[in-house]
Amino acid sequence: MREGKKRGRLLVVSNRLPVSVVRRDGRIHYESSSGGLATALSSLGGFARQVWTGWSGLLHHLSEMAGAAEELGEALVVNPNDKDEVAGAIRAALEMDRGDQARRITAMQARLRRYDVHRWAGDFVDRLEAAVSVRRQMAASRMTAAARREIGRQYAGAGQRLLLLDYDGTLVRFREDPGMAAPDRGLAALLARLGGDPRSRVVIVSGRDRATLDRWLGGLPVDMVAEHGVWTRERGGEWRTPGPLRTDWMGEIRPIMEHFADRTPGAFVEEKERSLVWHFRRSDPALALLRASEMKDAVRRLAGSLGLDVVDGNRVVEIKTAGITKGRAATGWIEGGAPWDFILAAGDDATDEDLFAALPAQAWTIKVGMSPSRARVNVESCRELRALLGRLAGAASAGGSPSRKGGRAGARGAQGAGHA
Ligand SMILES: [Mg+2]
Repeated sequence: MREGKKRGRLLVVSNRLPVSVVRRDGRIHYESSSGGLATALSSLGGFARQVWTGWSGLLHHLSEMAGAAEELGEALVVNPNDKDEVAGAIRAALEMDRGDQARRITAMQARLRRYDVHRWAGDFVDRLEAAVSVRRQMAASRMTAAARREIGRQYAGAGQRLLLLDYDGTLVRFREDPGMAAPDRGLAALLARLGGDPRSRVVIVSGRDRATLDRWLGGLPVDMVAEHGVWTRERGGEWRTPGPLRTDWMGEIRPIMEHFADRTPGAFVEEKERSLVWHFRRSDPALALLRASEMKDAVRRLAGSLGLDVVDGNRVVEIKTAGITKGRAATGWIEGGAPWDFILAAGDDATDEDLFAALPAQAWTIKVGMSPSRARVNVESCRELRALLGRLAGAASAGGSPSRKGGRAGARGAQGAGHA
């Protein structure tokens, strides 16, 4: 606008252009838009020379932090805080072949037409109802005092008992730093008492690597499963593995996982002997879940041909050879160590669901945490589970000698070795 001798300049930023482009009779016509900020201010045109810049609507950038970025995969997704990336994406869009632009926009428009507001609202209500029904279900499976007493009664009366216990998030609470989760003295004492009872067999069924389990639990009277079933070790025995497992896929998968870890502050990749783990317990949860899901999508595209499983854990995603599960590992003890009069399994994440699924119906399966599970009962926390185990250990040692049922001399471990 003119003001004295100085000429000012009014810059209007609007997502709607002051003109619409229409094709009529095979010709292009420009018409004034019927709304929008730029149109409203066009009456100022008499005072200021107007210049506007717009684009055809075929170019498309989305912030990766916008929810739509997940739905509109054909858009150029940018991190809005990264100027270079934004500039690079604008350049890529401007130089993009028109046919490619049209293909992308057509796919996104088709998806938006399918996934309209009615569908979205319907989905929202469905999910809300599902959440309510899960809550009802969970309320029903909360461990009751009666269930606790029944577990205690069966345990005390059983001649041979098998306890299959996950470690992280089950016996010890979740730690930001996975290296900080070493057993405290109370836990070591508890496991020593449980495993020291000749009628009980305690198996720690973990996703941890075997070196860590050896260091932390090697001196205790327990059997161990490492890396979700890749390795098994009976008390006093050697580590065994079901067979040679390929690891050549790691070279292909690891860079993909690293790429997403680099873009997620706090996330990192751990290489175990037979698996790769993407940890995000130290990351911002919302960003990490988004990145984890993108990472899984990228890995899954290759996982099938490489014979891999992508498994969600508690703030970890693990990639490993397909078919190796905690459930399969537990089968060794269930079948090789029979007959058990009492089986109890406890765990806190998706990998433990395989374990629960592998057990006979009369087994007590306990999920630590109040989320949906195929376990028979849920307990709130590690502390609650440890209190239960403590009562079992205490009752067994205080209760004298419940029926020994002949000592079950034939009870053996997974690979046929006796109790150490
Ligand atoms: Mg766990």
